[in-house]
Amino acid sequence: MRVLVVEDELAMADSIRRGLEAEGMAVDVAHDGETGLWMARENSYDVILLDIMLPKINGYVVCKTLRDEENWTPVLMLTAKQGEFDEAEGLDTGADDYVTKPFSFVVLLARLRALVRRKVAERPTVLTIGDLVLDPASREVARGDVPIDVTAREFSILEHLMRRPGEVVSKTAILDAVWDLNFDGDTNIVEVYVSSLRKKIDAPFGRKSIQTVRGAGYRLNPGPG
Ligand code: CA
Repeated sequence: MRVLVVEDELAMADSIRRGLEAEGMAVDVAHDGETGLWMARENSYDVILLDIMLPKINGYVVCKTLRDEENWTPVLMLTAKQGEFDEAEGLDTGADDYVTKPFSFVVLLARLRALVRRKVAERPTVLTIGDLVLDPASREVARGDVPIDVTAREFSILEHLMRRPGEVVSKTAILDAVWDLNFDGDTNIVEVYVSSLRKKIDAPFGRKSIQTVRGAGYRLNPGPG
């Protein structure tokens, strides 16, 4: 297994490198984002450990750039402190998982191996319903040729619906799928986001693709409408 570690704290980078090498992995280290990006482009890695706050180019931008270039190497973000890493934003840049420092090496190794097992490097299938297109890999949405800007949560809700065309999906099911387990708000929040989604993917195009099923939830019209 070949791993790229992009981390500017030298002691931290060195300790990760030694730990991974002790597990029999081949490890390359970069100490800034620019070098890390260059190495990720030039070599083929099974996984990239990517710090966020880096000299020259930060980790978010490194990850987003790789994904924009259709490089799907699994990325595990390393975040310095609680709150530095915005989960929605980080995963929106195409990162696959993250760990918060200080982490135990055992945890890091487990997350890294899980990522490689998941083979997230394979590009996920683009979802298409009529002329509505959602690309889970690049996180892009479009209606025909028109790109649509959606937030990370709107994207997740739309993806959830597009994976179940024609099915009635309850607000609770959406809440469970899109919000984390600690969220204890009520399902009205789902209505707010669905309403906002409709203003982006339907209204400007004269469509009504997200239908309300009274008392049950929502259904994405599987037809061209
Ligand atoms: Ca750093």
